[in-house]
Amino acid sequence: MIDWNDRFWSKVAPEPNSGCWLWMASTDACGYGRFGVARSNVLAHRNAYVLVHGAIPGGMHVLHRCDVRACVNPDHLFLGTHADNMADMANKGRGAPPSGDRHWSRLHPEKRAYGDRNGSRRHRRRGETNSNASLTNSSAADIRALLARGAMQREVAAAYGVSQTCISRLAMGRTYAVPSNEIAAASGPDDVDAEPADSEERAR
Ligand SMILES: [Zn+2]
Repeated sequence: MIDWNDRFWSKVAPEPNSGCWLWMASTDACGYGRFGVARSNVLAHRNAYVLVHGAIPGGMHVLHRCDVRACVNPDHLFLGTHADNMADMANKGRGAPPSGDRHWSRLHPEKRAYGDRNGSRRHRRRGETNSNASLTNSSAADIRALLARGAMQREVAAAYGVSQTCISRLAMGRTYAVPSNEIAAASGPDDVDAEPADSEERAR
């Protein structure tokens, strides 16, 4: 029996100045920590909240007081509605991640993974099980509905705190195409960690 609690907290590094507990394992394209549990991949800060404060009421978001998306310090996390989340982001002047010349791919073009090193070649999992997933399947459905009613991709991206690329890919049906259940398979010997699973591609 694996102790999820110990395994989770072993991936955290306290930051002495801010008090943030930084998630050292993988993060998604939008900067949130991801934690692999029983074949699923959950948001690390939500998992931290549950471990310390208990279950998250349905539909509630776990927000950061510190505005550090990779932080999992339970004292820096609080519950809010989707509307609270949008208001909080607006107050902090934060919408979509850096883009254009501020985007890391412009600042560090040598770090971009081309060809066979690109994640899209190496890992073709979709939806929440994708280790880069930044939206749950339920919010993906909400976003599709918003777009169908004529919402701008840029506005929806800002509201959900993800990149416009995330939204446009979703709109084109290239991501979140396969529904999955985040709490399927409560535990098992073949759980995956948040690190990339290269066995995925060989299994194809
Ligand atoms: Zn923090």
